[in-house]
Amino acid sequence: MPKMLWNVLRNLLSSPVTVRYPYVKSDPVDGTRGRISFDMNACDQCQDCERICPPAAIKVYPDEKRIEYDPFRCIYCHLCVENCMQKAILAEEVVRSPEYEKVKEVFEEGQ
Ligand code: SF4
Ligand code: SF4
Repeated sequence: MPKMLWNVLRNLLSSPVTVRYPYVKSDPVDGTRGRISFDMNACDQCQDCERICPPAAIKVYPDEKRIEYDPFRCIYCHLCVENCMQKAILAEEVVRSPEYEKVKEVFEEGQ
């Protein structure tokens, strides 16, 4: 009982550990696997990312030098990032914002 009272008093007098999201955003935790993008000037169209992606979120069109990426299929495992030999997939620690529409992202050479 005294221990519980001590905990109650301590929690009443200390500041909250939570933040007022979405008004206040917390910093990403180290190692967060966030959104990805493709550097089409570095990409050699090898299609390794398409083959390795578990949910098939990437489609490479080598002839058109274009990649379609579906962020709503992506599970943010970053397997593609780790395995791209050209280091053409850029990873951020920032997670993707919610969207109203499920649109694919298109990356083309020269962008
Ligand atoms: S693995 Fe890298 S180099 Fe190969 S197609 Fe994907 S992004 Fe381009
Ligand atoms: S992060 Fe994982 S799920 Fe997302 S595109 Fe890359 S391999 Fe596919």
